[in-house]
Amino acid sequence: MESARRAVERARAAFATGRSRPLEFRLQQLRALERLVREREREILGAIAADLRKSGPNAYGHELLGVLGELALATAQLPAWAAPRRAKRNLLTLRDEAFVRPEPLGLVLVIGAWNYPFVLVMQPLIGAIAAGNAVVVKPSEVSEHTARLLADLLPKYLDPELYPVVTGGVTETTELLTHRFDHILYTGSTAVGKIVMAAAAKHLTPVTLELGGKSPCYIDRDCDLAIACRRITWGKYMNCGQTCIAPDYILCDPAIQAQVVENIKATLREFYGDDVKSSPDYERIVNKRHFHRVLALLEGQKVAHGGETDEASCFIAPTILTDVSPDAKVMQEEIFGPVLPIVPVKSADEAIELINSREKPLALYVFSNNKKLIDRFISETTSGGVTANDVIMHFFLSSLPFGGVGHSGMGAYHGQHSFDTFSHHRSCLIKDLKMEGANKLRYPPASQKKVAWAKFFLLKRFQWGRVGLVALALLGLVAAVLIKNHQSVLKRKALWALLAVQRLGWLSGS
Ligand code: NAD
Repeated sequence: MESARRAVERARAAFATGRSRPLEFRLQQLRALERLVREREREILGAIAADLRKSGPNAYGHELLGVLGELALATAQLPAWAAPRRAKRNLLTLRDEAFVRPEPLGLVLVIGAWNYPFVLVMQPLIGAIAAGNAVVVKPSEVSEHTARLLADLLPKYLDPELYPVVTGGVTETTELLTHRFDHILYTGSTAVGKIVMAAAAKHLTPVTLELGGKSPCYIDRDCDLAIACRRITWGKYMNCGQTCIAPDYILCDPAIQAQVVENIKATLREFYGDDVKSSPDYERIVNKRHFHRVLALLEGQKVAHGGETDEASCFIAPTILTDVSPDAKVMQEEIFGPVLPIVPVKSADEAIELINSREKPLALYVFSNNKKLIDRFISETTSGGVTANDVIMHFFLSSLPFGGVGHSGMGAYHGQHSFDTFSHHRSCLIKDLKMEGANKLRYPPASQKKVAWAKFFLLKRFQWGRVGLVALALLGLVAAVLIKNHQSVLKRKALWALLAVQRLGWLSGS
């Protein structure tokens, strides 16, 4: 652990040496991270258990598996991701090289949250290393065991100058945020997201904000309720409801509310047995502050199931609330605990209207046999991501960018999207010093004729397909040969003739 200022200075100086840039170095660091996960598995699982009372198999499934998957993908794909990407050319640049080159941004700050304390630090770190950056890592102080372990282990496996860890709380994070970074990825609450963005704005630092919010879950009457409720129960109560993309509340027709409750109750018994408190698969609220915050959301509500608590161990039983009003306190803020309100709505229209009247959620879920209804929810609402007929699962598909929209965040990561988030996509156009005649169009003196030609080159859309393109390329070749072999007058005439032929063909094709 080191002071914020020293960590930033050392990491920036290390980046300036250029050693984080070569692909071989990045791959070597990613392989070292993989070794860390494999060799220190027991300690990592122990720290997560101490922070959230999570069982070994669950911690492996929720956190380590995702990290190992991301590492395997990044090490296999990095050469392809990092390669220059060819850009389409237009008529004026047919002879030139045009490409986009992903480059490291420089010094990145990754600020993690406590609810998945390992994966939420490691996944952005993998993307930032893959993209060739230096990274200052700031784990959440709330999950203190995992934070301490990361501070201990990362410097033992990674280049300690390039990837320092800063631990501590609000004071340390606030100090870090006074420094200049080239990108900040923050995971946490919307309120702190605003603080991070305001601090970043002072340096014009771009941010990726992975925030929270209330993710709605609509259950249509035309759906297999037993399956829908099993999937919802899994996503809602895993990690004791402390999952950013957990279904926050259910919207359904009042006619099926009782069946929804019965199905969820049956699934809870199936998952956690008759005594949920002693189930190794049921976690605890992270601390007393959050315990009391979640409890306060139950006030005045109809508890259809659960509601038992134990302050000493921060236990709150899986709880279902029925007939909840959209105006209730529990519907005003993200629950982030094992409390599931059901808000009755008479129709899909009413559900869509309610969703659209609120801040844009991080995730949206809809369960139905009716494909058209699913399409309606997708096209008439917005959210960071959507899973239909399941919950959470879009998070695990690394080809999908993971992130929020509006108050649930900005930017995205996972897989290649992480690499792109932490890269600058540099536009490169390489011309030669020939074909100067064509450039007369843009040089003074200006004329209406030149404007007409410029419009033709830049505004007309070619519609001849492949055959036309080949014909144009051949014409270009002939012109190039003519120009190479003849005097300047001929050069100019040939060029204008070529342009005229192209223009005629173009106009007749458009
Ligand atoms: P937290 O308390 O761990 O805070 C996150 C980080 O912000 C910490 O590193 C902390 O040091 C820093 N921080 C806290 N207060 C600060 C302040 N005033 N100034 C500067 N830095 C400060 O986490 P949290 O905010 O309780 O996290 C829960 C929220 O995170 C929920 O809203 C949840 O939905 C969201 N979340 C989002 C994602 C996602 O991927 N979108 C993932 C997990 C959690």
